[in-house]
Amino acid sequence: MTTSPLLDIQDLHLAFDGFEGRSQVLDGVNLSVQPGETLGIVGETGCGKSVLARSVTRLLPMPPARITAGTVRFDGADVMAMDRTALARLRGTGVSMIFQDPMTFLNPVFSIGQGMADVIRAHDTATGRRARPRFQARQRAAELLAAVRLPDPGGLLDRYPHELSGGQRQRVLIATALSGTPRLLIADEPTTALDVTVQAGVLRLIDDLVRASNLTLLLISHDLGVIGALCRRIAVMYAGTIAEDGDATLIFARPRHPYTLGLLAAVPDLARPEHRARPIPGHIPDLLHPPPGCRFHPRCPMAVTRCGAEKPVLREVDGRHVACHRAEEVAPERAIAA
Ligand code: SF4
Repeated sequence: MTTSPLLDIQDLHLAFDGFEGRSQVLDGVNLSVQPGETLGIVGETGCGKSVLARSVTRLLPMPPARITAGTVRFDGADVMAMDRTALARLRGTGVSMIFQDPMTFLNPVFSIGQGMADVIRAHDTATGRRARPRFQARQRAAELLAAVRLPDPGGLLDRYPHELSGGQRQRVLIATALSGTPRLLIADEPTTALDVTVQAGVLRLIDDLVRASNLTLLLISHDLGVIGALCRRIAVMYAGTIAEDGDATLIFARPRHPYTLGLLAAVPDLARPEHRARPIPGHIPDLLHPPPGCRFHPRCPMAVTRCGAEKPVLREVDGRHVACHRAEEVAPERAIAA
């Protein structure tokens, strides 16, 4: 039995218009997410993964950001056609986002209780209800703080963001993100700013919350370890395109795109220190002047003439989707040498 996707992105093209011209930041992205799926989007900084995530709720500066083609549908509804009321309902009660730096999103002049109560009351009005009284919103905020395993949630309501540690602030942000009982949770580098030990606790918390509420998760990270810990499906992005998309275990075991292979080879293996991490030579291309054909071809050890002339389309190879003319030939020994 097939179900309708909760999130359906088709042929999405997004550009930024600047003084120097137009940067094509997303170049024909296709991505469907089924209800209950956990999808990790991985790629180097600047590959367009955060922009893609923000375009789901139109949380982009428009202009200069401009969607030049394609569609984004959430639960069948066209996000691009939503008016302010529908967008307010979508943000929070349909889709919630957690960001890398909680301090950017917690208002420093509001106590935790004030800030959370405002969001909870805003969700009430966005869904057509009367905003609940402030004391009830504070009670709900305390429940949510307890759900993210913060000790003394009642006392925390009267504290300010600067009085909390980075890990506590991230948990407050997660609690706030859950306040509208969203169906899709987007976590954009949620642990990048945290110490490694704190990271593990926050990742476990997200994992538990997703499982307990059967949430759909879209996790953005440059860290394959983080993606592997939480996601059953992975989409590898490169320079505004999807390079490979499929089951995480399958892709980790047998990548079919030279870029995925390069990313995996670049991860240090602590269990086998004799296997040195091999960085991918070169850089993400300047999206003002992207290379023709396959955007990875200037860095790809398998590139042939066709790669510089013809853009590869996503096609099914070996149980996943890959955008590479030579996917069938990709083998571990072809990993890029530094
Ligand atoms: Fe490399 Fe060509 Fe495949 Fe692009 S299409 S990843 S350049 S082999």
